[in-house]
Amino acid sequence: MSTCPYGAIVVRDGVAVLLDNCTHCGACAGECPAEAIAIEEVNAETRPEAAGEGEGGAAGPEAGADRWRGVWVFAEQRRGKPSSVVYELLGEGRKLADDLGEELSAVLLGHNVDDAANELIAHGAEKVYIVDDPALADFQDEPYAQVITELVQEYKPSIFLLGATTIGRSLGPRVAARLRTGLTADCTGLAIDKEKRLLLQTRPAFGGNIMATILCPDRRPQMATVRHKVMKRAARDDARRGEIIRLVKEILPPRARLVRVVEETHQMVNLAEADIIVSGGRGLGKAENFRIIEDLARVLGAAVGASRAAVDAGWIPYAHQVGQTGKTVCPKIYIACGISGAIQHLAGMGSSDIIVAINKDPSAPIFNVATYGIVGDLFEVVPALTAELRKSAGD
Ligand SMILES: Cc1cc2nc3c(=O)[nH]c(=O)nc-3n(C[C@H](O)[C@H](O)[C@H](O)COP(=O)(O)OP(=O)(O)OC[C@H]3O[C@@H](n4cnc5c(N)ncnc54)[C@H](O)[C@@H]3O)c2cc1C
Repeated sequence: MSTCPYGAIVVRDGVAVLLDNCTHCGACAGECPAEAIAIEEVNAETRPEAAGEGEGGAAGPEAGADRWRGVWVFAEQRRGKPSSVVYELLGEGRKLADDLGEELSAVLLGHNVDDAANELIAHGAEKVYIVDDPALADFQDEPYAQVITELVQEYKPSIFLLGATTIGRSLGPRVAARLRTGLTADCTGLAIDKEKRLLLQTRPAFGGNIMATILCPDRRPQMATVRHKVMKRAARDDARRGEIIRLVKEILPPRARLVRVVEETHQMVNLAEADIIVSGGRGLGKAENFRIIEDLARVLGAAVGASRAAVDAGWIPYAHQVGQTGKTVCPKIYIACGISGAIQHLAGMGSSDIIVAINKDPSAPIFNVATYGIVGDLFEVVPALTAELRKSAGD
């Protein structure tokens, strides 16, 4: 333990355990009296020199990357139900796997998750790797990262996709760091460079002003988190058949203990799933005025969204924020009230099917993306809309 400069080794039940803050510096490897610690380069074979290319050899993945095959999707689930982003990953993963001529698989961790496995197959997974264990019933970073890392090392997928959800954003970087590979966060586009057999990972950069396409040529797997509601969902087909591979893993006890799960109940409708969203911005002027947004949302059966300006002002919780640093949404109808349409806001709602903008400034940029624009005072327009919709709903 004393050889580790980072304090990343503990001894549990007489066995050395490496903690998450291990940097793979290697200081401990030669020091263990039982020779029980070795630094194994998971990715060594993907590097040109490892396959005898030597200096000046071809850079890129050709050397050993063909041992890494297949597209994996992390099947995030809650209470045994896959999150809807998983079906979008399967839809996109199918295209990538077909372009590569490789298999599409899902990796499912949890407890009593057999129904979820069948759903994944119906949505296109050819194989589902399941680790079913009570210790994995609820998501926790450490055990999930440990098990997934071991599975990737064992089965060597070439591409590994996760949803850019709270869970995916926490798990992805941990797994990537353990595997010493790259991770492109928050992708909005994925494709295959067929000649080089590389994953092209596209995401907004510099505040959404440019789209950057990122490659991971030398390490495997190529990892990406993908934004919700950007990719098309895989179609369900109950006639599909697939293989379920059950695996047992020894799960190290996590340092954190899950005390209880508290469900968030204040949101009327889950923003990411909503078909209609009514959003309020700085134009509302104060927290109490969100009431008129909520009234309209209630009549429409919609969720309530907000711009960052409204969230920063403390008028509404962060869970409602739409945009680059909030949620990405893609409803059928997005109604923006008193929102100017800054690029960072558009990054989160620009792909909505129909955008209705209500703003008193006719030159507000939101009108550039709006399907319907109403130039007017939201305090007149929104209550009038609510009243009219109430009438037509027969209230
Ligand atoms: C790194 C970074 C990340 C960011 N992430 C996000 C993000 O995730 N989401 C986000 O939204 N922003 C984000 N922002 C902030 C963004 O740049 C804008 O500042 C923000 O979106 C502005 O919010 P707004 O449109 O409500 O306010 P404003 O830009 O102030 O616009 C208010 C609008 O209300 C209109 N208005 C005023 N009164 C009325 C009225 N009575 N009736 C009708 N219209 C009225 C005005 O004409 C104006 O157009 C980010 C910024 C940065 C730098």
